[in-house]
Amino acid sequence: MPQLAQRVGRAKPSAIMVIAEKARQLKAAGRDIISFSIGVPNFLPGEHVYAAAREALSHDSGQYGSNRGADALLDAFLKHIEALGFDGYTRMNLSIGIGAKQVLYNLAEALLDEGDEICFAAPYWTSYRDIADIVGAKINVMHCGAEQNYKLTPAQLDAALARKPKVFLFNNPSNPTGMVYTGEEIAALAEVLVKHPDTWVITDDIYNSMVFDGLGYHNFVFAKPELRERVIFVDSVSKTYGMPGWRVGLIAGPESVAKAITTLNSNHITSLPEVITAAAVAALSGPQDIPKAKCAEFAGKRDTVFAALSAIPGVVCPRPQGAFYAFPDISVAFGKSHNGIKIGNDVEFCAALLEAKGVACVPGSAFGEPRALRISYTCPTAQLEPGLARIAEFFAELS
Ligand code: PLP
Repeated sequence: MPQLAQRVGRAKPSAIMVIAEKARQLKAAGRDIISFSIGVPNFLPGEHVYAAAREALSHDSGQYGSNRGADALLDAFLKHIEALGFDGYTRMNLSIGIGAKQVLYNLAEALLDEGDEICFAAPYWTSYRDIADIVGAKINVMHCGAEQNYKLTPAQLDAALARKPKVFLFNNPSNPTGMVYTGEEIAALAEVLVKHPDTWVITDDIYNSMVFDGLGYHNFVFAKPELRERVIFVDSVSKTYGMPGWRVGLIAGPESVAKAITTLNSNHITSLPEVITAAAVAALSGPQDIPKAKCAEFAGKRDTVFAALSAIPGVVCPRPQGAFYAFPDISVAFGKSHNGIKIGNDVEFCAALLEAKGVACVPGSAFGEPRALRISYTCPTAQLEPGLARIAEFFAELS
């Protein structure tokens, strides 16, 4: 019997999907379920995006396209990143992929040989570990708990980079914590990066349109332009424009890296479909009122979530300032019981909460922080408050 490749064994099914599937089953069985589990935007793109897709469909060539991305897409992305603060980039600094996830996988292939080290902070987005595992990289996790607002400190970064990793992978705003680094914090980390010239820096900043409290979006290259030769900015239309299923990811970085990704594309995916490309161009270059309105809506929901979680005795929730996630430390519940069911860890907590109250959250261990759980608050407002009330009730019933 032939065997599967070892790398498949290193890839694990997503813990987020496991809890989402359990919630789906309970719902199908007639239970009243409120899902805070999946991190998907709760809106669709604007009509101009669909109009552009329909128009493209009417004169679709049916052919393969550019491995780097169509010129119209690259030009729209250049304007988009200029508005964010990236100056002086050309098409040669850009490339595309099937969503940020595939872009990140391509970057791992392009930058990491088997056995090379990659470092990233925990809590981290679940796929970072899996992508690194699949390419056979060594992982060094920098642990950043609730006591430090889940944020990486310059000293932690300095210590990790002293090991000369090939890649430092950074995520801002963060999934799962909703934390956003201020301009000063980014500048302090950039100071450290300058001291370690042998490490590539990937900034996975696909939630850059969802920053609250006037903090603004900041990147290392804004603070230290010389880092442009090592920093790769990853973006996507998924969360900003309500287009996760359209699968368009983009990078802006050094020409050598953009070229490598383009070469990998020529072997992996060839190109993005024309219709999808037209939709992404319309999203990036059309009116930005939907992302702006959604950012304001999520900031309001953040207030609701933060207030409700902070009111639960013993729960510590660093105040999220971006994306649409909250990541409370719920370890106060460990060792207690709910209706006779013992809760020893985050997985047992989430299972008991779903069973008893019909609220689905993702255990923090999926993100490298077993003391917490992730709440994704994109659900309708009519579900948000009852869902939070059920969580508070669950805590109150612990003995
Ligand atoms: N990076 C982060 C931090 C994410 O949260 C996600 C999706 O949840 C991705 C990348 C992947 O995004 P895409 O839909 O563009 O593949």
